[in-house]
Amino acid sequence: MQKYFSAEAKARAKVMVDALVKAFGARVDRLSWLSEATRAKAKAKVATLTVGVGYPDTWVDSSGLTIDRADAFGNARRASAFEYQRQVAKLSKPVDRNEWWMTPQTVNAVNLPLQNALNFPAAILQPPFFDPEADPAANFGAMGTIIGHEISHSFDDSGAQFDAQGTFTNWWTDEDLAHFKAAGEQLAKQYDAYEPLPGLHLNGHQTLSENIADVAGLNTSWDAFVAQRQPTATADAGAKHAGAFTDEQRFFLSFAQVWRLKSREAAMRRQVITNGHAPGPYRALTVRNLDGWYQAFDVKPGQKLALPAEQRVRIW
Ligand SMILES: [Zn+2]
Repeated sequence: MQKYFSAEAKARAKVMVDALVKAFGARVDRLSWLSEATRAKAKAKVATLTVGVGYPDTWVDSSGLTIDRADAFGNARRASAFEYQRQVAKLSKPVDRNEWWMTPQTVNAVNLPLQNALNFPAAILQPPFFDPEADPAANFGAMGTIIGHEISHSFDDSGAQFDAQGTFTNWWTDEDLAHFKAAGEQLAKQYDAYEPLPGLHLNGHQTLSENIADVAGLNTSWDAFVAQRQPTATADAGAKHAGAFTDEQRFFLSFAQVWRLKSREAAMRRQVITNGHAPGPYRALTVRNLDGWYQAFDVKPGQKLALPAEQRVRIW
């Protein structure tokens, strides 16, 4: 793995993960609508979150699996049986919270409720998401928002059903859950209004969990980005870097670049109808909910990506 994802890159990604977990915890502390009972449970869950970065510390021992170059079908059958036995062998044993469920070669990230854990494979810790040589604005705008997105899934309506130990139990008060759902309705309306093709609108409820995670991830990463630059902020605030954009602007440009997409009409139609995620360019539009966006680009009321302050959705 070291050839594609160095120990140095892993260490730098880990620093960013820690910054995001800390920023999310601080948001939980500040949330005004959360009851103290739910807040305490949420904080316990943040404190025990296990985050895998790049690749597992311990690899699965597959020495018992026979691979034969001349027998593709047999390989598939033996691999399937091997994996089944590996899963069965876990029975009655403690949960391994460090176990990985994605290969390091996968460009994706995952939240694992039963382990209260996250996996960020090496393949997503690459440009345009993450570059150990890039500056904080580029990395927090891209990978930081993805990390924040995955963290927040631990605290959404399905994450609410698993506690700090990964046990299936609802730790939210009914009142807090009702508030969470009502706030989500506002975001659903926002997404219902998007129309990628004439007559074809996004489905705000079908994509709601992901859209909540996107707003939360962007907010959390923005907080972490602002926090880490504070020592030099007075001298540096608003300074233009790298092509005449400020650091704040480059944070948002980096976020938008992650969601670039080119697709044919049929593929767009299929995604809108069947997928739980909004198409990339619409995910980028969630900047409208962030106060920092308005400051960074001096966005004025009435402009295309402007929302009146009272319509900006803040959930986490
Ligand atoms: Zn997600």
